[in-house]
Amino acid sequence: MRLYRDPDAPGRLDFDRGLYERIAKTDQKQLVHAHIVPIRSGYAWQVKAGSLVRLLTVEGPQVCDLNLWNMNNPRERFWAARTRQLQGAHVTTFDRLWSCLPYLRPMATITNDTLPTTPTANGGRCHDLLGSRCDPYLYKLLDDRDYDVTCHNNLTRAVAAYHLTELDVHDVLNVFQVTGLDPVHEIYFMEPSPAKPGDFFEFFAEIDLLCAISTCPSGDLSEWGWGPEGADPVANCHPIGVEVSAVDGELLKEWKPPEPVSIDSVY
Ligand SMILES: [Zn+2]
Repeated sequence: MRLYRDPDAPGRLDFDRGLYERIAKTDQKQLVHAHIVPIRSGYAWQVKAGSLVRLLTVEGPQVCDLNLWNMNNPRERFWAARTRQLQGAHVTTFDRLWSCLPYLRPMATITNDTLPTTPTANGGRCHDLLGSRCDPYLYKLLDDRDYDVTCHNNLTRAVAAYHLTELDVHDVLNVFQVTGLDPVHEIYFMEPSPAKPGDFFEFFAEIDLLCAISTCPSGDLSEWGWGPEGADPVANCHPIGVEVSAVDGELLKEWKPPEPVSIDSVY
């Protein structure tokens, strides 16, 4: 078996982890934005390159669907599939979130993650890149049900203020979500989120970002869809906290914003 990437010899994907450790631990930072995103809703916000973004489970477990765009050019956006190839099917500290073609650069580097990184008994891991967002088309297709607070709806509403539409919403990083593939059929499975009040997932913005999240209507995914016997799992839903901190410029002197990959031509 040949791994797509050797985690012990990352080669040209290597970067100075010490710098990101110092950024993660620094107290030379200033909180510049804080917001609580209510259950079953979306929120979008801008982040300057060189900032830390923290997503927090403030009251209890909750899955959080994340989209990223280049704030100055929304055609450059998060590419879940390439990130899955380059980093792994689940991400944690020191993994990077990559942008789509024709750009291909790290949009963000994960600096802090308080969730478990060891697999569950079923082989499930946290912060999922295997699945995507829940959406109203699938509810209609599978159940003939109209449902308008899916993550796709929430993300679409959140980015409308930035003149983006549902065509701009893309495959997500499912923060705080535990998933895997069953070993027999490789069918996607989900497990309840283990996030506790105060847990967080933090990343460093490598470029100016527009971020958007949805607080998934299935909450912590202990009962997804509408729960057993048609029960609505609203009791399993919790808000998500967003915090943005500006990192002191002195610490960022060693940091260089990444450039898109430059090639001669695709034609
Ligand atoms: Zn969802």
